[in-house]
Amino acid sequence: MTATRIDGKPVAEALRARIGRDVAAFVQATGIVPGLTVVLVGDDPASQVYVRNKGKHTTDAGMKSDTILLPADTDQQTVLATIARLNADPAVHGILLQLPLPAHLDPLSAINAIDPDKDVDGLHPVNAGRLAQGLPGFVPCTPLGCMLLLEGVIPDFSGLEAVVVGRSNLVGKPIAQLLLGRNCTVTMAHSRTRDLAAVCRRADILVAAVGKAEMIRGGWVKPGAVVIDVGINRFPSTTGGKDRLVGDVAYAEAAEVARAITPVPGGVGLMTVACLLSNTLDAARRRHGVSG
Ligand code: NDP
Repeated sequence: MTATRIDGKPVAEALRARIGRDVAAFVQATGIVPGLTVVLVGDDPASQVYVRNKGKHTTDAGMKSDTILLPADTDQQTVLATIARLNADPAVHGILLQLPLPAHLDPLSAINAIDPDKDVDGLHPVNAGRLAQGLPGFVPCTPLGCMLLLEGVIPDFSGLEAVVVGRSNLVGKPIAQLLLGRNCTVTMAHSRTRDLAAVCRRADILVAAVGKAEMIRGGWVKPGAVVIDVGINRFPSTTGGKDRLVGDVAYAEAAEVARAITPVPGGVGLMTVACLLSNTLDAARRRHGVSG
């Protein structure tokens, strides 16, 4: 079997185009422009690229984009005061604190300071709780993107065995909750899981969110499974060009066995920003009582 390649590009483009139309309708109905503010502390080059990219897509979709740059030696009090100011600003509908923060800062207390109704990254414990209880709230963007890609190839999730490798608050746990919400039988695997290969071989849906290049081999994939590779492992170019990006799944091997699989790059990564735009528009709609 050679798997269908689940290409994130057209799905992300279609979503961004739809959001652009919905933003225009929202602005026309309310006279209010949805606004996203990103807080970036320090000068991590990868974070700078991500933040620029988010800003460009936000303005392309017709929303207001702001970035607050704080120096690397900013103290926790200043970060909290910045977040408090954004919480109180009615023109800001979404707040995103770019992670990772410099090591001397505490990311949890900073995330907890964000108004849950402006937490478009879905990382506040209130939003994690809402997701766990099946209540409306903000869901982290990468897991949302994974579900949209899965929906393109799986007509009915009910009863399928899903294995999620990785249990971070950002990716693994919310994906597992979303799959559970769709009536999958979900197993969460992690670094202490015994016989991970055998656990993965049970999966009709296998999600890899580990951060270890090509850890998941073709022999770990159940024939006919759908594989979502969230991993982004970066290797500097040896020729001075762009970094090489590699997923957590050994793509060529897995594609021999799976029914469908996301590539890295070109799969899940492209969906994350599109889902951030979607969450920002939702935040503005909820604040102003406009249904989607
Ligand atoms: P974390 O480092 O927070 O979590 C990694 C998880 O993998 C942990 O739960 C850890 O287990 C588990 N793990 C580590 N080693 C093993 C192993 N040998 N066997 C089984 N499980 C293992 O990473 P994130 O969740 O933030 O990110 C995961 C990957 O996804 C990364 O490559 C990241 O770059 C990528 N990513 C991609 C995004 C995108 O837009 N496409 C967005 C966000 C992340 P334990 O809990 O036991 O330590």
